[in-house]
Amino acid sequence: MTESVDVAIVGAGQAGLATSWHLKQAGVEHVVLESGRIAETWRSRRWDSFCLVTPNWTVQLPGGSYEGAEPDGFMPRDELVRHLEQWTRSFEAPVREGCAVAALDATGAGFTLETSAGTIKARTVVVASGGYQRAHLPAGAAGVPPSVPQLLAEEYRNPEALPPGPVLIVGSGQTGCQLAEELHEAGRRVILACGRCGWAPRVFGDHDLIWWVIESGFWNRTPADLPSLAARLIGNPQATGHGGGHDLHHRTLHAKGVELAGRFTGAADGKVLFGDLNADLGASDALAAVFKQWVDALCLKRGLPIPWDIPAPLRVTSRAELDLGREGVGAVIWTTGFRPDYGWVHLPVFDEMGFPIQHDGHCAVPGLYFMGVHFQRKAQSAVLYGVGEDAEIVAQHIVETRS
Ligand SMILES: Cc1cc2nc3c(=O)[nH]c(=O)nc-3n(C[C@H](O)[C@H](O)[C@H](O)COP(=O)(O)OP(=O)(O)OC[C@H]3O[C@@H](n4cnc5c(N)ncnc54)[C@H](O)[C@@H]3O)c2cc1C
Repeated sequence: MTESVDVAIVGAGQAGLATSWHLKQAGVEHVVLESGRIAETWRSRRWDSFCLVTPNWTVQLPGGSYEGAEPDGFMPRDELVRHLEQWTRSFEAPVREGCAVAALDATGAGFTLETSAGTIKARTVVVASGGYQRAHLPAGAAGVPPSVPQLLAEEYRNPEALPPGPVLIVGSGQTGCQLAEELHEAGRRVILACGRCGWAPRVFGDHDLIWWVIESGFWNRTPADLPSLAARLIGNPQATGHGGGHDLHHRTLHAKGVELAGRFTGAADGKVLFGDLNADLGASDALAAVFKQWVDALCLKRGLPIPWDIPAPLRVTSRAELDLGREGVGAVIWTTGFRPDYGWVHLPVFDEMGFPIQHDGHCAVPGLYFMGVHFQRKAQSAVLYGVGEDAEIVAQHIVETRS
C-alpha cells in the first residue's frame, strides 16, 4: 500500500529537525524520514573523542538552544547527540527512524519516495540529508597500495583501533589537525600532508574565535560574496574545542613535533608524493589574512584594538616523498573534505559541482526544498548556530505557497 503524506522531510539531523520544529509551530502535518537514528551523522561518522569546534552557546536551534552550565565549553559527541535527542522529544518531532529513502521522483502534482519502509507519496519534500555527505579523495589516492590500511576520517575511532606504526594523515583542515594532535599525543609518529586551510587563534581580543566569526559578519557571507562557487569548498579555519579549546594549526603542530609535509600530489610504487610545503603554508596564511580582514574591519568599526597579527611565514624543510613500506606506515587517514551526494534525487536541480541550485532553500521544482546545504543562504547555513534561520524561511515558504 502506498502511503500519502503532506510534507516529507528526509533526514533527522539538525537541518531536518529544525524544519520539523517550524512546521510543527505552523501546524503543518509532516513526517521526518531517517535512514539511521536521530542525529545519525554525529553518532556514527565522528570519532570517539570528537567534540564541537564551536562553543556550546552557538547551539541556537529553534526551541533547542544550549542551556547547560558550560556555554563556553565544547560538547563532546555523546552529549551533543543527547541534546539533539532531548530536543526532538521536546516537540514530539514525527521522526521515523530506520527509513532510508532510495529514490525521489516527481509524479503529477507531488513526489514519490521509494523508502526501505515502502512507497510514500508527498505533496512537498524537504531534502535535509546532510551538509557534508560524501568523503572526497584527492586525485591519485588510488595509487596508494591497498596493502597499507586506509580509512576516511569518518571511519577513524581512536588511536588504539589503528594498526601500529606511523600514520600519514592527508589533509590539514580542522579534522586533519585534530586527528594529528590526538595521534601525536598518543605517541604515534604522525606525518601530516598539509593543504591550504586557513587558521586563527582560539581566543583573541578576549573573545572566542567564533564570536569574531559571527560579529564580523564572516558567517553572513552569501555565495555571491565568494570569489567563485568553487570557493564553497574552502575549509573553515583550523581550530579545536578539545580540552576546553586551544590554538591548533600548522605552527602549533610543527612546534609539537608533528612532521609537516606538502600537499598530497599522488602515489606510485609504494611511495606517496608531496608538493611544496612552504607554498601551502603561505597559502594557509593568506586565507587566515582574508578572515583577519573581517576582524580588522570590525575593530575599526567598533574602535577596538587590532587583536591578532599573522606572524612571519613558517618555513619548514620537508620531504618530497614517503616510502610507505620502508618507513612501516601503519595507516593512511584521508581528511580531504566532502562533496554533495544527491544521486537518489532524480530531478535536474543540481549544479556542475553537485550542489542544489536553490534560493532560500526552494528550487525550480515547486514543492521541493533543500535544508542544511553548505552555503545554502550564508556561510552559517550548515552549522548549529545558523540552521534555524534557514529552517524558518523554508517552513514559511511551504506555508505561504499552499495558503
Ligand atoms: C567533521 C565535522 C565537524 C563538524 N563540527 C561542527 C561544529 O563543531 N559545530 C557546528 O556547528 N557544526 C559542525 N559541523 C557542521 C554541521 O553542524 C554538521 O555537518 C551537521 O551534521 C549537519 O547537520 P545536517 O542536519 O545538515 O546533516 P546531518 O547531521 O548529516 O543529517 C542528515 C541526516 O540525513 C540522513 N539521511 C541521509 N540520506 C538519507 C536518505 N536518503 N534517507 C533517509 N535519511 C537520510 C542521515 O542519516 C542523517 O541523519 C561539522 C561537520 C563535520 C563534517
